[in-house]
Amino acid sequence: MSKTQPPKTFPGWIRQPWPSGEAFSEVKSLLGDLRLHTVCQSAHCPNQSECWGRKTATFMVMGNTCTRHCSYCAVNSGKPGELDLDEPEHIAEAVRRLGLKHTVLTSVTRDDLPDGGAGHIARTIRAIKASTPETTIEVLVQDFDGKREDIARVQAAGPEIFSHNIETVKSVFSRIRDRRFTYEQSLEVLRIAREYSEGRFIKSAFMLGCGETPAEIEETLRDLKAAGCDAVSIGQYLQPTPKHFPVQAYIAPEQFKEIEALAWSIGFGFAVAGPFVRSSYRSEALLESAYAQSRMAGNELNGASHAD
Ligand code: SF4
Repeated sequence: MSKTQPPKTFPGWIRQPWPSGEAFSEVKSLLGDLRLHTVCQSAHCPNQSECWGRKTATFMVMGNTCTRHCSYCAVNSGKPGELDLDEPEHIAEAVRRLGLKHTVLTSVTRDDLPDGGAGHIARTIRAIKASTPETTIEVLVQDFDGKREDIARVQAAGPEIFSHNIETVKSVFSRIRDRRFTYEQSLEVLRIAREYSEGRFIKSAFMLGCGETPAEIEETLRDLKAAGCDAVSIGQYLQPTPKHFPVQAYIAPEQFKEIEALAWSIGFGFAVAGPFVRSSYRSEALLESAYAQSRMAGNELNGASHAD
């Protein structure tokens, strides 16, 4: 694997079209009507045009104010407002009205809530399953301070994919993440989730371009695999504003391809890496790939029904 280069100019491949179009406007107005937040907007995601154009969106449960402060993240931090107890039903309604076959739920970190919001997230998963049972769900959660009961509560609601992002390699971790997160605790969250997975998928994601070395990328992949991850996604970090952690390197698309091949060779059941890959990007492809592999092997996958 070749070495990363410090950024000199903004490379040509880091360009996406400005979001627009009929489907985009429809998603935007539905989210406004139901007072819902998406990480697509809050984190200034570069895939908004593509994803909203395909009528998919990643819902951000429990508001758009986070109790932690990570130096790479564009989401507001501070004191969050009251929980919107109608939110689970509103998200379920949005999923139904958009006709989503697959949806991703993520959230801000809510250290102000006794269970970190695990109960609210579980209620949201159940509301979607009650309203559109054929919709598969990925839930991307914070670390819940490593509390087993909170992780188990989310898993008990039955998401097809449980995700917790490691975000970066060990040596960079404390430079970009809030001090309440640790690399080891994130691995522990994945290990605990694995115990409660009942055959469901465990996924993590991290960003490149924060100053990591090729050897550290490989170490992180091996740590995630050892923690029980089935799937990994790897993308390019982009600095959301001048006040955020600066990009240390832009990784060329061909280097991402090498890293993706490395992940597959380490034994992940699904891996995707590329400049615009975000943790939720093409989440449904993990299930499609897993169902295809399962069908080829003549097996039934646990815990998930999937409308092809
Ligand atoms: S926990 Fe960190 S990365 Fe997640 S929303 Fe809060 S500040 Fe952003």
